Amino acid sequence: MPDQLDRTVAVLGAGTMGHGIAQVSAMAGFRVTLSDPQPGAVEKGIDQVRRNLLKGVERGKVAREDADAALARLAAADSVKDAVRDAWLVIEAAPEKMEIKERIFADVYGFAPDGAILATNTSSLSVGRIAAATGAPERVIGLHFFNPVHIMKLLEVVKGEHTSAATLDAALEYARRIGKEPIVVTDTPGFASSRLGVILGLEAMRMVEQGVASPEDIDKAMELGYNHPMGPLKLTDLVGLDVRLGIADYLHRELGGDQYRAPDLLRRMVDEGKLGKKSGEGFYDWRES
Ligand code: NAD
Repeated sequence: MPDQLDRTVAVLGAGTMGHGIAQVSAMAGFRVTLSDPQPGAVEKGIDQVRRNLLKGVERGKVAREDADAALARLAAADSVKDAVRDAWLVIEAAPEKMEIKERIFADVYGFAPDGAILATNTSSLSVGRIAAATGAPERVIGLHFFNPVHIMKLLEVVKGEHTSAATLDAALEYARRIGKEPIVVTDTPGFASSRLGVILGLEAMRMVEQGVASPEDIDKAMELGYNHPMGPLKLTDLVGLDVRLGIADYLHRELGGDQYRAPDLLRRMVDEGKLGKKSGEGFYDWRES
């Protein structure tokens, strides 16, 4: 296997997750190409990487030379074809819609070198279905990063039905190179993280509905009693209530069981536009922050 400095990681989609994936890959010594069909999105993503790294330098967490070297390894690509032509690993971080991902994977399969690993950062969709859009499902795998990518340690590695052992090994090696802690999960709805995390969030909402305690006190119970860094309701506000509702509905459809049934309170808040931090209000008032 060539030295990591010879390898290119292509990141497709330069939004919240894509720019972070590009950053951690470039910091680990990979050459990175970043593409996004939305005009200005790649430049915005690279600018965000620059700002993150600068903050790291200011805080003494990143050496200036390392930040400069990482930025020099990061290049904008005008198309999927340009982005993936020399890729060792392709990571798709486009919107969470099956049709979009299927189209991207069909293109990537056509343009990437034979043998390239093709990864999706989907947080819920079936890796197997995405893989079926390619002629090489054995090279397709899920690499589920967490937000913000440069801070969160976990990388959920999702093995599709046809993912080969060599693809899994390469994905685990990539995880180690970028300093993440991988877990390996089979391709099931919600994987390991959302399947468990969503239950806690939904139950906390049912407790608010039933007047068990205030959102602040429910969160405090988990933070101080169970050592969670953040309570489930505050976390829901950060993720977005609409995003949480989407995942809950999907898991309820796929897995059944009352534990994924979205509480009325959640639906009502989403209808009222109370989406959490991004809208200024959720279980907490964020308007002053
Ligand atoms: P985002 O909306 O911030 O970014 C998506 C980007 O993809 C946009 O810039 C958009 O222009 C671009 N895009 C649209 N069509 C594309 C295409 N055909 N090819 C390439 N890029 C395209 O979304 P995000 O939050 O970064 O989410 C991306 C993926 O990561 C989703 O699958 C999401 O479920 C997953 N994810 C998100 C989070 C999170 O906290 N936001 C966490 C884990 C996983």
